[in-house]
Amino acid sequence: MEFSEQALVLKVGRFREIDAWVRLFSPVRGGYTAFAFGGMKSRRRFLGCLDPLNHVRFKVRRSGRGGYHCLTEARLLDAPTNLRHDPPRLGMAINCLKFFEAVHIGPQGAADAYALLRAMLAALENASAPAALFPLFFRARLATLHGTFPVCDRCAVCGRPFGDDEAVCHVEAGRLTCPDCRRGGDHGVRQHLAPEALSLLESAVSGDPGAWAACRPDPAAAREFSRTVDLLVRFHLGLAWEQGGFVRA
Ligand SMILES: [Zn+2]
Repeated sequence: MEFSEQALVLKVGRFREIDAWVRLFSPVRGGYTAFAFGGMKSRRRFLGCLDPLNHVRFKVRRSGRGGYHCLTEARLLDAPTNLRHDPPRLGMAINCLKFFEAVHIGPQGAADAYALLRAMLAALENASAPAALFPLFFRARLATLHGTFPVCDRCAVCGRPFGDDEAVCHVEAGRLTCPDCRRGGDHGVRQHLAPEALSLLESAVSGDPGAWAACRPDPAAAREFSRTVDLLVRFHLGLAWEQGGFVRA
């Protein structure tokens, strides 16, 4: 069986002398690994396609017996350039990809996740100086796609829109309430969110990655926002960033 589809290259590794394995993410199949036989030697066959962060149209053959995927042809659709030559941008993109790989998005959510990955890379490629908070926005958005992030625009108890008011995040319960409704039955960790921190959260959940890159929040709002995302991701996805990778918290 053979098919042709576009995919993002997440990782590339060598095996044996000249062969490569490629970790891909497609809007149809989600994540999978494919082999590129001769991929490390005959670079011409794959024409510079086998590099992480490339957007490529692949022809893929699926073997009947072993069920493995084998790349037979590749055409580069686009590849980031600013990103690759600017360590801070590249670091943020890698941070986002590591989180993405740790979260495990299945085929049902693949199209939305793929669109998010593409928008993330485009924003980091094109922004003049992407905000350091960018990966936190990405984590919140991916957790939203994954169904493990709270609604951020209205109180989970009384339903009142937050508007320009402050809010409280109840971490273990995974919900935000207005200050009037904060005395719920739960006694877990609570994080206060001033209006500016709350608007950062709303932007993460429903805004555009271009706006994440361009945001210049005041440091107090940035701290509340970061802490809230970290706590929610740690508690509801079981992931924490430690020493260059995501670990099970
Ligand atoms: Zn309320």
